[in-house]
Amino acid sequence: MPMMSSASRFPRRPVLLTQELDQLRSLLRLVAADNPFYTQKFEAGEVSYSIRHIGDMAESIPLTTRQELIADARANPPFGTNLSYAVSRYAHCHQWQDEAGLHWCWLDTAASWSAMAATGAEVFRAAEVGPEDRVFFLSSYEQQSGTWLPLESGALGGSLCFSAAGLDVQGRWEAIQRLGPTVVVGAAADFRALAEAAPAGVAGAQAPSVRLALGGGRPGEAEAVRVQAARLWPEARVWDYVALPETGVVAFECPARPGVMHLAEPAVFPEIVDPATGRSLDSGEGELVLTTLFRAGSPLVRYRTGCRAALCPDTACECGRHQLAVEGGIGALPAQPA
Ligand SMILES: [Zn+2]
Repeated sequence: MPMMSSASRFPRRPVLLTQELDQLRSLLRLVAADNPFYTQKFEAGEVSYSIRHIGDMAESIPLTTRQELIADARANPPFGTNLSYAVSRYAHCHQWQDEAGLHWCWLDTAASWSAMAATGAEVFRAAEVGPEDRVFFLSSYEQQSGTWLPLESGALGGSLCFSAAGLDVQGRWEAIQRLGPTVVVGAAADFRALAEAAPAGVAGAQAPSVRLALGGGRPGEAEAVRVQAARLWPEARVWDYVALPETGVVAFECPARPGVMHLAEPAVFPEIVDPATGRSLDSGEGELVLTTLFRAGSPLVRYRTGCRAALCPDTACECGRHQLAVEGGIGALPAQPA
């Protein structure tokens, strides 16, 4: 498939920044007035939430940590208090259980759900997945990332999408042979389980339609997905992207520069901070901090993601995109002490 590389398709950097500044301002107004989690947080720190420039974010607005979210989720089950609207305004829920056993229910309005699906569709577009493709989603992917959102993203791009939900690993392998997908999406563990179920050494021959393996979106998993997918389809390309259930899509591979990922602006406003001090960095490697701009009902403002990222020095890209880019993928930082 030819690469869709028309530079005019993608908003230029000043346009992106204007849009992000407008959305940051309205988000901060909303959460300071109506979101109990942020009203309390901002009042406690006597935060001035009016910003004139993008650079004011780092100067004026405090970081949000995972520990704060955990404390809020524990004290206020089942949804926490990071809600800008009454619960009746929400339509969807991302549910997951973290490594400490805490159940998370991250609510989305119909509007934020649609916006997140559209951002996900950009991931498939960058991977050159389109209407000719059949996309097979391995099951643990959707359990981790929010029920059907990734399938909606794939379908928005016109692909025919199949879920493996309800199928055991043998059933998935048989479905792949029967349905003839061109793209298989899953976490490294999904590809490993499939490789163990498929007849040794003949997976590529028995399901030759697969041309692309798309990772399950977990930080730091790209290499593991590459290794496991290659056991099944040695000739297939492997494509990386990163998403967190509490933020949505974080970044996706650049179609023109191997090893480079674009941050998912303007759905997120990205910053890099020193992981030890939280101090804002203009360039280089550090912890990725995100403000989620398309999720005003359950937003994160300057959220320390726990992900390591190294900003590329330039913003103009051969692929035509003007979103900030990071080099060498996005990995997980060592966990911060609680
Ligand atoms: Zn690019």
